[in-house]
Amino acid sequence: MLMNLEQKKCSINIARIKIIKVWKNFKQDTNEKRLFAKIAGILTHIIYGMGKKHHLTELRKISNLIKISLSDKYIDKSSEIPLLKTGISIIEDIYTNQKDLLISHITEKKCKYNNCFKKISPPCEKSCPAGIDIPAFIVQTGGGKFKHALEIILENNPFPYVCGLICPAPCEDSCLRKTLDKPVFIRSIKAVAARETIQEKCYPKPNIKSLTGKKVAIIGSGPGGLSAAFYLAKQGHLPVVFEAEKELGGMLRYGIPDFRLPLKILNNDISWIKLHGVEIHTKTRINNIKKLFNNGFNAVFLATGTPFSNKIPFKGNERSNVISGIDFLRKINKGENPDIGKKVIVIGGGNVAVDVAMAALRQNALKIKMVCLENKNEMPASENELRTAIMEGVIVYNSWGPFYLKKNNLFEFIFCKKIFNDKGKFAPVFDNNKKLELYCDTVLVAAGQIPDFSYLENDTEINIFKGLIKINNSYKTNINGVFAGGDVVTGPNIAVNAIKAGKEAALEIDKWLMNKNKKKHNQTEKNLNFPEKIPCLKINALNRKNTKRAKLEEQNPKKRINNYLPIEEELSINQAQKEAQRCLRCDICIGCGLCQFICSEIGINAINLTICDDRFVFTDFTSFSNKCISCGACEKVCPTGAVKIIQKQNFIRTEFTGTFLNKNTMLECDLCGKLIMPDLYYKNIETRLDLKTKTFAIKPEAIELKSETPDIRKKTIDIKNLSENLRVCPACTRTKYAENLKKFL
Ligand code: SF4
Ligand code: SF4
Repeated sequence: MLMNLEQKKCSINIARIKIIKVWKNFKQDTNEKRLFAKIAGILTHIIYGMGKKHHLTELRKISNLIKISLSDKYIDKSSEIPLLKTGISIIEDIYTNQKDLLISHITEKKCKYNNCFKKISPPCEKSCPAGIDIPAFIVQTGGGKFKHALEIILENNPFPYVCGLICPAPCEDSCLRKTLDKPVFIRSIKAVAARETIQEKCYPKPNIKSLTGKKVAIIGSGPGGLSAAFYLAKQGHLPVVFEAEKELGGMLRYGIPDFRLPLKILNNDISWIKLHGVEIHTKTRINNIKKLFNNGFNAVFLATGTPFSNKIPFKGNERSNVISGIDFLRKINKGENPDIGKKVIVIGGGNVAVDVAMAALRQNALKIKMVCLENKNEMPASENELRTAIMEGVIVYNSWGPFYLKKNNLFEFIFCKKIFNDKGKFAPVFDNNKKLELYCDTVLVAAGQIPDFSYLENDTEINIFKGLIKINNSYKTNINGVFAGGDVVTGPNIAVNAIKAGKEAALEIDKWLMNKNKKKHNQTEKNLNFPEKIPCLKINALNRKNTKRAKLEEQNPKKRINNYLPIEEELSINQAQKEAQRCLRCDICIGCGLCQFICSEIGINAINLTICDDRFVFTDFTSFSNKCISCGACEKVCPTGAVKIIQKQNFIRTEFTGTFLNKNTMLECDLCGKLIMPDLYYKNIETRLDLKTKTFAIKPEAIELKSETPDIRKKTIDIKNLSENLRVCPACTRTKYAENLKKFL
């Protein structure tokens, strides 16, 4: 794991990671381990943009202390010698070779590698193509504020309910909850937020800027086209959508069967998009882009997707029982009830192939064999979708390429040894001697899709490269005013990527139309600031830790193949709210590690963070409570407010992103009963300080107890010195002292 961290290029960050490694390798809590915790803390402050000039001198001071320790250790022949040597060499290297870089990090907040000071987004949000603020909508759903949750989703995705049902959820793949057990069920929480807002009839009102008078033609009404229309309308432009089919939705309507995405849910999301003032022309095929400009349009967005099946080269592919999988789904979704044979082979290993196979079962096929080039691990189909198909009886044959469909309907396949070359490009290698023969009466081909460019017959100058429209980083084609995005540019992809393209293209079109010269929308912000976030759900540690990922109930596979009803139930409100409690709020805890370093620096070691990729994650909810003394050091250093120490009556509690981690009793003044400080904190100071002689049990120059203000130390000493048997608050100390003094006067 730590190796991963070291791939960061900035030398200061690399040094920090190495220091963390040294610190982690100390087996015992020694003064030296604490010094390394302090260095790790200082370097963390620096790379997160919180470095101060005094950190330079502190680093030097600590390095000297370690050197002194090292010479002592030689006398003791300590096993820590190699660690200390490594640590010193890391700091010396920063001082001799990286000093300028260190100084520029501190004084100018500049990192020449552009690694540091970046806006830190939670991993789920980073991997959501639409860039939804995921923890924010999760917490709102968890708190029953469905409309607020939906508003957060709609900022970046106008298809909340659709994506809540069909998105393969790349966000869940990178969810940090997996370091503890399984990812948060983000997709289904989204569906609940959308469903409940509809139930409560409180869908947000469209929020549109003042009208600009600019008209944008959008060709295609799939997720990309409609997303572009939505965000253009919000900017005050008039989007006009042209759709060749009878109804809107593109592949969402015609390529996804009802058992995955019921039409009424798609219609709901589309109606809301239309409410923003989108002009719609269905059954309208555009065949001259240039003419659109003559007809008053200011810009054009091409979002025509990839509606055709890829033609797979095999002997016999021209036969009448070889059918395009996507055409088959289109017919079903148009209500045409296409007839197929009883024994069906589906060629392809992606989600469309899975849907084709499952739809074939519902069209009365009895045996479905899915054959693909990919091996099990390479299959592009989502694990969940494939599982549902297998449960329905679909048999999957991996690593076979279609070769020859004979007249007697025996289909011959050859073994695919390797599908990608060393550069990761599609370049299948076959073993012609290894063959498989399967009988079928229908072949459904669902191995890739391609665009339909027939509408560009009068616009042949548009740059098409390798079968896809070529654009630049601003979604511009080579023709002025013509933009393109989604599958027609990338090739077939998941819906949320088309949504992202539609949204980003709309922002680019807006910039172009209005002659704006804004920063690129996704640019990372320099200089960290930690904006206010929606407060965390309050929950006890055991619930946060032990709640298992929710499961969706599914229709019985044997019965469901007879209908097109949804396979999966949705989560209930209660389930969604419980699921929301599993979220670790990685937007609030940015995983810097500062709380852990300070806790180690003062020798308590209550915080045990897990390293995941390039950050820390708080996962240790249970052992914390046995060690924490509620000193408040972690709260003081945490830059985001993820840790809070909250005093309630006579106890004090540590909360980590809303999780109640422990409860310590407050110490009462033996004379007046006033609460003084956490009991365990007092005991800790007592054991570490020789109170009678007022000297430190540990070297004061080695450890500076940041969290313990001189005032608190003094307070403790005063209290203790008053009487060995009494623990007294400062006010009572003064009174007692005065009383004692009087006796001698
Ligand atoms: S735990 Fe929550 S905030 Fe963290 S990655 Fe998962 S969903 Fe996002
Ligand atoms: S709780 Fe605060 S200090 Fe600790 S890792 Fe998270 S953000 Fe950093």
